[in-house]
Amino acid sequence: MKILMYAVLEPEKKYIKQWSEQTGVEVKCVDERLNAQTVDWAQGFDGIDFQQTQPLEPVVYQKLHEYGIKQLTARMVGYDMIDFDLAKKYSLVVTNVPAYSPRAIAEMGLTQALRLVRKLGYYDQRMDKLDFRWAGLESTEIYNLTVGIIGAGHIGGATAQLYSALGAKVIATDPIHRVELNPYLEYTDQETLLKTADIVTVHTPLNETTTNMFNGAAFKKMKPTAYLINMARGGIVNAADLITALQNKEIAGAALDTLADEGQFFEKQATPDEIPEDYKTLRAMPNVLISPHSAFYTDTAMKNMVAMGLNDVVAVVKGQRPQFEVFN
Ligand code: NAD
Repeated sequence: MKILMYAVLEPEKKYIKQWSEQTGVEVKCVDERLNAQTVDWAQGFDGIDFQQTQPLEPVVYQKLHEYGIKQLTARMVGYDMIDFDLAKKYSLVVTNVPAYSPRAIAEMGLTQALRLVRKLGYYDQRMDKLDFRWAGLESTEIYNLTVGIIGAGHIGGATAQLYSALGAKVIATDPIHRVELNPYLEYTDQETLLKTADIVTVHTPLNETTTNMFNGAAFKKMKPTAYLINMARGGIVNAADLITALQNKEIAGAALDTLADEGQFFEKQATPDEIPEDYKTLRAMPNVLISPHSAFYTDTAMKNMVAMGLNDVVAVVKGQRPQFEVFN
């Protein structure tokens, strides 16, 4: 069996080699993403595996089907780049890796929240100017805070456990209430969460209920001392409205691991003209943290992402049921 892996990152290669040696399955890695220009490379392979946030063009589905490929495996949690109607039309089973390491993202969210709560951006600004005065740097301690989790699934649930272990009060909104999270959080409604949380941390998929969820109206409901943490998808936060809210001191700060329209510079060295103006404005603020969609990027996550994705490619190719099929 031969599998073609698209958009392979350097750090993944040792885990791919390990998996290939253990299973005896041949894997070819390419740097490029799966798209209309690269889909022809899949000819002659039994299966494919990719990670990317850019939508797949319709021709990709059609050609994969023509080449005898039976699956679309995204070795990542998000699968919003896949058109399920086209996948169905061309008999492509969609699989993802739903939870390669929820702790990786939860820990990054917590780290950024702590940086904001302790005003470390302002500390850095002061130290750059050799300003050792304390005025304006007083902060609070985490167990005094209420943390509001929007979307308490794998990552939100892990986030609840971390904050709960630090003594914070944790509240959450999610249409699904999970009894196993009862020791760590209390469910509430979104309105109450926005009004009462000191840290609002978002861990939902990007869907019709979450697109632009953080807009002007939402920021107005939040406490002026509250921080927004978005480790999920850029489209959940309206960047222009966030800038207005920060400038009007409607909220205290934000950490964004993902940006809307980040596709062109995802895991790339970007040039200034590629970066939207609103992100440059946000980046210049000491109470805003922007990271390169890398909250997941730990050794554990990389190892699991590679093996769980490839195992499902093999399952579909062999006509077996994959472990992580996605239905939409
Ligand atoms: P999950 O499916 O386990 O949990 C998502 C939860 O959000 C579900 O419980 C769902 O019911 C809930 N939800 C959906 N719409 C909601 C709404 N409007 N309000 C409240 N809750 C809602 O997914 P997960 O593994 O926890 O991942 C969550 C998201 O994190 C992914 O969809 C992906 O976009 C993002 N992610 C980011 C990174 C990163 O590196 N930054 C890595 C992995 C995943």
